[in-house]
Amino acid sequence: MKSYLKHYIDGAWVDSDGGTRHAVIDPATEQPVSKIMLGSHADVDKAVAAARRAFESFSRTSAADRAALLGRIIEEYKARIPDLAQATSEEMGAPIGFATAAQAPAGLGYFLGTLKALNEFSFEEMDGKTRVVHEPLGVVAMITPWNWPLNQICAKVAPALAAGDTMVLKPSEEAPGCAVILAEILDKAGVPAGVFNLVNGDGQTVGAALSTHRDVDMVSFTGSTRAGIAVAQAAAATVKRVHQELGGKAPNLVLQGADLAAVLPPTLQGVIANSGQSCIAPTRLLVHTSQVADATQVVKSIMESVSVGNPNEMGAHIGPVVNKAQYDKIQGLIQSAIDEGATLVTGGTGRPDGRNAGYFVKPTLFADVTPGMRIAREEVFGPVATITAYDDEEHAIRLANDTEYGLSATISGDPAEAARIAPRLRAGMVTINGWSGGGGAPFGGYKQSGNGREGGKYGLADFMEIKAVIGAPV
Ligand code: NAD
Repeated sequence: MKSYLKHYIDGAWVDSDGGTRHAVIDPATEQPVSKIMLGSHADVDKAVAAARRAFESFSRTSAADRAALLGRIIEEYKARIPDLAQATSEEMGAPIGFATAAQAPAGLGYFLGTLKALNEFSFEEMDGKTRVVHEPLGVVAMITPWNWPLNQICAKVAPALAAGDTMVLKPSEEAPGCAVILAEILDKAGVPAGVFNLVNGDGQTVGAALSTHRDVDMVSFTGSTRAGIAVAQAAAATVKRVHQELGGKAPNLVLQGADLAAVLPPTLQGVIANSGQSCIAPTRLLVHTSQVADATQVVKSIMESVSVGNPNEMGAHIGPVVNKAQYDKIQGLIQSAIDEGATLVTGGTGRPDGRNAGYFVKPTLFADVTPGMRIAREEVFGPVATITAYDDEEHAIRLANDTEYGLSATISGDPAEAARIAPRLRAGMVTINGWSGGGGAPFGGYKQSGNGREGGKYGLADFMEIKAVIGAPV
């Protein structure tokens, strides 16, 4: 069993001051796979103090120096992809092939995209007679989830380093191993002591201590809307900037007359990949009444072609979901759809045939789903798709927007028609005939999916302050 009992503070691996041990569970076997130390308030205070000290000098480094640093991190990261993939796979259950091809490289993508943005970024501009300067923001606390653990961590660490900020990361206690390896990467690449600090821990102690901390200038949070609200409330008294990347319930608006066999398989990948544990998964299929029967057959055969298997085996299968709480929540939502009168087309409750352990979920499709059902409103975070019928375009747009979330939306069908409709959808991202964000594209949500953006130049700007200098010689 791997052991990550130290925090990384001020450039060194240090013992916790009053923390408690915690076993991380392998979701495929339900057995412990690694152990970490859940940090304490004292650990948070030390890490924030180190970040504050390091800010004095790191905030005054040149953009060129920081670009060179990102370049060295990128090289170290590439060399550790197998280790990062292994830790991710063991702790959150992504099959090792997927972890190697998608999970680990997703974090690298943020370093590459941020380096490009940094090289092109204008730190100063004139607005009339005012000089507008983008400056480092200060000490950033980062709280991240388990589902795409490296992606979510690097979406924050890369722009913070590029901006000249210093930081304290609290990764998910469900998938901390890849964060420990990332700390090793940053250390080896020469990130100065105190610039990046890692305190493992849970939300109630370390997450809350970071959110309330007087010496933290910004808290950048990715996770559930529930915890995001708690973080914002805890942060309010110190008026720090709060950046939230929260839950989603993305629609897949299938345009009337779309070639279903062509457009549905790539978008359904967003529901299947990572066992459906993606905040942008386009799970709510909205289909014209004339095509519901055909779409149901196409999606049924896609879901039935998915195999479920062990994370440590190579292949195109999906793995388990992350933990018992997530498994129970998905089972409850599947049962609620049955109870509320949706038609179970394939899948359903319980583990897939032949499995009596592990948090494995059956790829599931419901038809005849109406907007009031829980399965249509709540984020499932499992390989579960729903089909809801629409009568005309206005009805489809209303259904697409009928959610408290607004992270992402997919439109399937003719790209020109889809682009015409895209402005009507209240979501931070609209993907035509696909589901994943584009490289370097701004990533973030409307409504209860959060505020702020990650990725590219918009992500970099969000990790900086803006200063107006008035009266300086032009
Ligand atoms: P979660 O909210 O339970 O936990 C996320 C992080 O917050 C963890 O590090 C956790 O320890 C911490 N936390 C929990 N309660 C806290 C509190 N009261 N104060 C401070 N920190 C606290 O979410 P999860 O189950 O790890 O992740 C799944 C959720 O994340 C889904 O809702 C998903 O949609 C969302 N998500 C959003 C994005 C995005 O970019 N919008 C990306 C990935 C995941």
